[in-house]
Amino acid sequence: MNSQACPSSLDQLNFDNRFVHELPGDPVTRNYCRQIKMACYSRVLPTPVLEPKLVGYSREVAALLDITEETCNSETFEQIFAGNRLATGMDPYATCYGGHQFGHWAGQLGDGRAINLGEVINNHGQRWALQLKGAGLTPYSRNADGLAVLRSSVREFLCSEAMFHLGVPTTRALSLVLTGEEVIRDMFYNGNPKAEPGAIVCRVAPSFTRFGHFQILAARREIDLLRKLVDYTIRTDFPHLGEPSSQVYLTWFEEVCRRTAEMIVDWQRVGFVHGVMNTDNMSILGLTIDYGPYGWLENYDPDWTPNTTDKVDRRYRFGYQPQIAYWNLGQLGNAIYPLIGEVEPLQQALAVYSVAFEQGWQSMMADKLGFESFNLATDDDLITELLTLLQLVETDMTLFYRQLAKLEMAKSNDIEALFLSAYYVPEQITREYQARFEIWLDRYLKRLAQDGKPDAVRRAKMNAVNPKYVLRNYLAQLAIDKAEQGDFSMINELLDVLRHPYDEQPDKEIFAAKRPDWARQRPGCSMLSCSS
Ligand code: AMP
Ligand code: MG
Repeated sequence: MNSQACPSSLDQLNFDNRFVHELPGDPVTRNYCRQIKMACYSRVLPTPVLEPKLVGYSREVAALLDITEETCNSETFEQIFAGNRLATGMDPYATCYGGHQFGHWAGQLGDGRAINLGEVINNHGQRWALQLKGAGLTPYSRNADGLAVLRSSVREFLCSEAMFHLGVPTTRALSLVLTGEEVIRDMFYNGNPKAEPGAIVCRVAPSFTRFGHFQILAARREIDLLRKLVDYTIRTDFPHLGEPSSQVYLTWFEEVCRRTAEMIVDWQRVGFVHGVMNTDNMSILGLTIDYGPYGWLENYDPDWTPNTTDKVDRRYRFGYQPQIAYWNLGQLGNAIYPLIGEVEPLQQALAVYSVAFEQGWQSMMADKLGFESFNLATDDDLITELLTLLQLVETDMTLFYRQLAKLEMAKSNDIEALFLSAYYVPEQITREYQARFEIWLDRYLKRLAQDGKPDAVRRAKMNAVNPKYVLRNYLAQLAIDKAEQGDFSMINELLDVLRHPYDEQPDKEIFAAKRPDWARQRPGCSMLSCSS
């Protein structure tokens, strides 16, 4: 590995690498799997790869880092973000964290296939941490290989950026690079391993700190280090809270609760199912992190999860995400308890989540339906009945809300025609359903009349929160199928369409279509596993 050869503008990036400078690291430098005590990270270099090939990059993320598009298209960029070369100032490390997986304490997990390159301060003074996912073994790789395959990397790359443009808090993705090497994966853990193309995504976020970073220190009773990490996090990621103190620990925890609530409200708004909400996959900044077996609701079904590993319990199903976030925050509260010493104030802070979620969800649903604000007297029932109706016949959630926005108050729309495009199995529509739906629409129209907003104003407001374009599961899979054949055009086309998810894009209507029938049961479209 060489940071000198062929200087590039990437060598001008301003790395301050505060994480490694301020927190204790692992003194052992040899890269082998082990338990790492009394340290927040281990230094480790990315493993060089055979033949890097750039598949795509996000120009918006490059701009955040003051990287020009010319640089993104350079060979040096490809080499650096494949892990073959370090830019000046990079100081790679993997961090130590633990977590509850599927409700059970799992001990040390850590960055098993993520290698942090360092933290850049951009021209606006903003801090951005850069992290390669799939760049080889680290001391935290346990019994796995530290690698990632193209299909999961395409999914992470596209979804990070799609979520950002939807206005959902998320980690970002700078680049997607093929390694030119093969990775063996048994996609459904059913004894059918196969070689797949390896790939690396460079993720970008203000920080990648997870609930599990605090949990592992509490579990090991490394309380001084726990305090150090909390203080570091407050000073670095929450500087507006002031100097750390017992009181600030509580206001910090409240803010984590509030941010997490806001993130979950957004997930429920756009129909995103994370799929693996383990506490190690929860960001302290309330960002969506670790895009694995996630999925997008097609027909509205609160019981749906894309994750086949969770098929039986459905712990991480769409409708249960708000409760799981609360449970996870409870685990974070337990972890920082030693710094507070009292249960009561922590419980009060945790209650902030419930209030923030409830209020956020109500106002989000009011926005989706085009109301001025949520009216408890009428809207609770109206929403409950709508969510029941959406399940009685398979109804595409995304299409439904866009069609609903087209409703005109004065005219009697042809209701059947208006919603037809949203139904998966129109034969499911019975007379009884039709009658019930019309009663609902009638009540809805009366409710709109209370606000008295012109159709066009309401429609614009609804269309600003109800996306037309989301990363439908089958679209991601089609892009992957092509990429595996060496054709990256659909990845870049989707990246482009998903830049403007709320806009009408008449020549891109095809990407707004509901899931075709062939995708109903196809692996990758409706079923995913953690194997990636
Ligand atoms: P996940 O379920 O993807 O959030 O991962 C849980 C833990 O397993 C984390 O500590 C990951 O770093 C680790 N992990 C997942 N896949 C791999 C892999 N291929 N190689 C090494 N570690 C991995
Ligand atoms: Mg993870």
